[in-house]
Amino acid sequence: MLIAFDFDGTLSDSEMTVLLGGEQGVADEMADITERAMNDELSYAESLRSRAELLRGLSEREAERAFGRVALRPGAAAVIDALRDAGHTVAVLTGGFERGVARALDDAGTDVDAVVANRLPTRDGTLTGDVEGPLIEGTKDETLAALADEVGVGMADTVAVGDGANDLPMLEVAGLAVGYEPKPAVEPHCDVVVEAMAELRELLEERGVL
Ligand SMILES: [Mg+2]
Repeated sequence: MLIAFDFDGTLSDSEMTVLLGGEQGVADEMADITERAMNDELSYAESLRSRAELLRGLSEREAERAFGRVALRPGAAAVIDALRDAGHTVAVLTGGFERGVARALDDAGTDVDAVVANRLPTRDGTLTGDVEGPLIEGTKDETLAALADEVGVGMADTVAVGDGANDLPMLEVAGLAVGYEPKPAVEPHCDVVVEAMAELRELLEERGVL
């Protein structure tokens, strides 16, 4: 099977743009834009571009410091490892950034089969205020379908786990749609909702995935 996880708010309990915003002194503004986007009050691409713009001029060193604070939730690495040990493919599909995902997986001593994420380009050692990558305009349903095709599993054998409005497309097409502490706009579209990694693990066991 193919199991696709969102990152911020799902595998991790922080939001990367908010951690980066903390280094730039704009954490509150960042949290406000993020919250509106995750509740589907604002287009995701628009929100991500505004958040990247707020980070213009942040040094690479400060960005790395923020990425170093990105962490997996307790129990997340064990769920990922159990899924991979069971022979499943695990992917992270996030509008967040490659560096933060890589640092968090590494710190937790785990890894996944695929990370589809965005990047914050730099010039002369500082962030340009732009954002680039496959999950700005692109949506997670297309990414999930492409990965399923690559791995050779049908969509019925996919599981999507997410919390925010940008997860709705993948939750709608996945064989099993799991909301992890989902936002109010997201919850009605989930087959099942979990509030903790232990609960997610139980669910995967009940469904015969683990
Ligand atoms: Mg999220």
